[in-house]
Amino acid sequence: MPCYNESLNLDNFYLQILNQINIINEQNSKQINCEFIFINDGSTDNTLEILKALALKDNRIKILNFSRNFGKEAAILAGLQHSNAKATILIDADLQDPVELIPTMYKKFITQSIDMVCVRRIDRKGESKIRAFFSDMFYKISRFMSEIYLQSGVRDFRLMSKEVVDAILQLGEYHRFSKAIFEWVGYSKIYLEYEYIPRNAGSSGWSFWKLFKYGIEGLISFSTMPLRLAFILGFGASFGAFIYMIILILDTLIYGNDVRGYPSLMCVVVFFSGVILIVLGIIGEYIARIYEQVKNRPNYILKDENELQN
Ligand code: UDP
Ligand code: MG
Repeated sequence: MPCYNESLNLDNFYLQILNQINIINEQNSKQINCEFIFINDGSTDNTLEILKALALKDNRIKILNFSRNFGKEAAILAGLQHSNAKATILIDADLQDPVELIPTMYKKFITQSIDMVCVRRIDRKGESKIRAFFSDMFYKISRFMSEIYLQSGVRDFRLMSKEVVDAILQLGEYHRFSKAIFEWVGYSKIYLEYEYIPRNAGSSGWSFWKLFKYGIEGLISFSTMPLRLAFILGFGASFGAFIYMIILILDTLIYGNDVRGYPSLMCVVVFFSGVILIVLGIIGEYIARIYEQVKNRPNYILKDENELQN
């Protein structure tokens, strides 16, 4: 459970999770063994204090406390690295994920041995039109660019078998885009459907700009098509310029040269500067990622790890 400034939600969230665990226990008429891993992703409110208070009451709670805000992706990674259960559930702490699906997830996992039980939102109610538009556009572009098929409305909320978690952890990239990683690793999956739930309290940690950058991440992490596009663009422009050159030569030969070159020269210069900058920019995006990767920095730093388990 990644938590960033979730102090207003945590108590309620924890109770709701407990409820669902009780339902599972009743259905199976035995206590299931579980552990709750909360990742405090550098919250600036009293999220950590609330987590500590919960941990005092329930020794199944484990807290991973980041030294600063490293982002949800880093929090997901830390959580998965610290889980060694037969099945791991990843869920947002803001009550936006339908907790009541947890018993069904568990049941599907146990009875049908499905490796990944995911959830999919069937509508976009409650979301701003602009956000829905950009998000739709992202999915369309991503399907065109990458061999990974991302379905819209699929959340990070899911149950994963130990095998799936191990597979995910084998991907050592620094810039992580979990939505695509979950697809990339394969394994059997099913989708449970639900309707949109607004955030309980607090505000979404995703600004439009953050989401935009995350979208670019998704497109670049799982596709090299922009590089190919740069090549095609450069090639097309050179080809056009070559034709234009022939026209100019013929024109000069036939009609003679009476210094008329300025507009055409400017057009060519401006056009090619544009193409070169675009191509450089695209290459730059990839080089930046190679740079980040070779630095080999950890995705997060744990300030302290509260293991109250014995
Ligand atoms: N989150 C996090 N670090 C961040 C931003 C968010 O750990 O930098 C957590 C947050 O506490 C929540 C989950 O990730 O449990 C989803 O975040 P949010 O609700 O802001 O995203 P949204 O639901 O709007 O996609
Ligand atoms: Mg949310």
